[in-house]
Amino acid sequence: MRPDRLNPLFVETGSLKGVGPQLARPLEKLGLTRVRDLAYHLPDRFVQRRAVANLDEAAVGENIVVALTPAEYRGAAGRGPFRVLAADSIGNIVALTYFGRNSGWARKQLPLGETRWIAGRLDQYGQMLQIVHPDHVSGESAGLGQLCEPVYPLSEGLTQGRMAALVQQGLAALTDLPEWIEPGLLGRMQWPAWRDALLLAHRDEHREARERLAYDELLANSLALMLVRNANRARTGQPLRGDGRLRAKLALPFGLTGAQQRSIGEIEGDLAQASPMLRLLQGDVGSGKTVVALEAMLIAVEAGAQAALLAPTEILARQHHETLGRMAAGTGVEIALLTGRDKGRARESILMGLVDGSIDIVVGTHAIFQDAVAYRDLALVVIDEQHRFGVGQRLMLTQKGRRTPHCLAMTATPIPRTLTLAQYGEMDVSRLDEMPPGRQAIDTRVVAIERIDDVVGALSRHLAGGGQAYWVCPMVRESESDDLAAAEARFAELKARFGPEREGDVVLVHGQLRPEVKDAAMERFARGEARLLVATTVIEVGVDVPDATLMVIEQAERFGLAQLHQLRGRVGRGSEKSVCLLLRGGALSETARERLALLRETQDGFRLAEEDLRLRGGGELLGTRQSGDTPFRIASLEQIQRLLPLAHDDARLLIERDGGLTGERGEAARLLLYLFERDWGVQLLRGG
Ligand code: ADP
Ligand code: MG
Repeated sequence: MRPDRLNPLFVETGSLKGVGPQLARPLEKLGLTRVRDLAYHLPDRFVQRRAVANLDEAAVGENIVVALTPAEYRGAAGRGPFRVLAADSIGNIVALTYFGRNSGWARKQLPLGETRWIAGRLDQYGQMLQIVHPDHVSGESAGLGQLCEPVYPLSEGLTQGRMAALVQQGLAALTDLPEWIEPGLLGRMQWPAWRDALLLAHRDEHREARERLAYDELLANSLALMLVRNANRARTGQPLRGDGRLRAKLALPFGLTGAQQRSIGEIEGDLAQASPMLRLLQGDVGSGKTVVALEAMLIAVEAGAQAALLAPTEILARQHHETLGRMAAGTGVEIALLTGRDKGRARESILMGLVDGSIDIVVGTHAIFQDAVAYRDLALVVIDEQHRFGVGQRLMLTQKGRRTPHCLAMTATPIPRTLTLAQYGEMDVSRLDEMPPGRQAIDTRVVAIERIDDVVGALSRHLAGGGQAYWVCPMVRESESDDLAAAEARFAELKARFGPEREGDVVLVHGQLRPEVKDAAMERFARGEARLLVATTVIEVGVDVPDATLMVIEQAERFGLAQLHQLRGRVGRGSEKSVCLLLRGGALSETARERLALLRETQDGFRLAEEDLRLRGGGELLGTRQSGDTPFRIASLEQIQRLLPLAHDDARLLIERDGGLTGERGEAARLLLYLFERDWGVQLLRGG
């Protein structure tokens, strides 16, 4: 149960005044499901407006507030914009322009001959001054909102005015809360109190307020991760010592790299301890994490226990199951696959095998941790692509066995060191920083979109020669529908060209497809039946198709560096030379240019991750939100780098002094954990 004083903040936005079902979806899209989320929905930036007496005082491009009198309507019927010609106090004429909107609405707001206050950006259109879609139109100057107005992230179906009103409802629910930040730090940084910070952050570009809120988020995260770590240390696990008999029977067609050997050694050391392992295995795509996981699981089996491997998708689970089965064929180890799709008899028999211990290793999706699934002796859980699972979920998983199982998380996202701390807290880290030998460099080239015909030509030769290829289209959240349309159009085009005879030569995969449809398409491609996979970024994680040696990435400048690197990692998996073509649009920003150049230059994921952070972190003053590869919604990359070490130390000191969070600051810190939904940290305190 959440503390009473926080309850008003966790009321669902759907129950707010004036929020009907038509707003539910746009709000949900932005993750604004509760009042709390509205209060924390911080502006991306602010518009500064200047009130002017007439247009002579204003410059083109400026955001102004001015009194205007509508004189004439133009272009009402038919196509094209609707314009209201209006005069200022000294007779300057400006067009108020509306695109694609019912002109009746504008007519009503702007009756001829009546003075209105207009807020908007002054533009020039040919010889004419114009304001496109004024932000506000009001009969009195007071109705115009603020001269400094927040600009909120929106989704389709929401307007700035609507969002501002909703946010105000969120802010109205705030009460003062006791301070959780160490008083010395608070004073030194000149940070406002929590409630003031939220109010200020919505009012204007208040650096200290914004910083404080970011710090809160970082502190909550550090605290929670530290509580998990401590609780884990206090638990008893099962010391696992393998005698090597199964590992000796592994018939690997290659020798392990130094990095693999080192990682396996580290894991073996952890498993032998009574306190449960909490280790992250970080290694670029293709660095050979699977075999490390297998060795770890075999240690568990040698010690007489069971191991589970959790994959983020069905396809990946199946691929892992096959790979492990192949590698472990000579060991006699029983490896089962369990996904949400298994029903009836087959499922029953797997469940039986897990209970009676005849299954040594199970591979699957989260289905392997449902309540109905019981194990004889689960001692090790390996989680692939860790970042897709919440830490809370991981925690729940580790409580599944009789004793707390050891946990090995694997990720292919080479996270910079600063972010590793943020994501994984105090987990121990093993890094596969060495690629298996014989890997060919991927020939990466940047090609201007004007040369798309040449690219399609190259693709055509590649497919004709029996190769497979990926064609990646960008999919960015805000403009989802446009991007989807573009991807579908590209698919239709490529299909018309490469797959007119055989249905299914060219397949499309994107995030909005039903999972079965998506899986089926992916599987056709993985089996080599489909030759060309057109996809949005859903292929980012996982699939291993060694015969696919060509990748085209459209509008590459829109992707982040780390993301491009991950995508590119899908090729270069076989013995053939692979090629990655980065199609770029017209004008590139300096940063985009640098990103693409770096990608051409290196294939070292860790280096790219550090560079990505440098490129993205620089130069943002207000600290606009950065989602994606950090667990934070408020803190920007720059703030994370600067403030996380402070938050980390602060959290450590607090927990050292008051491990049960029962003191005055400790109680306040509990509220903070609830506020940022890291209350699993608090649950742990209660549990043990
Ligand atoms: P990851 O999961 O880290 O992306 P995988 O475990 O799928 O990488 O390994 C990628 C490929 O490299 C697989 O085909 C695997 O068999 C191979 N591989 C792994 N380790 C080695 C090694 N030491 N030498 C040669 N090939 C290896
Ligand atoms: Mg893998």
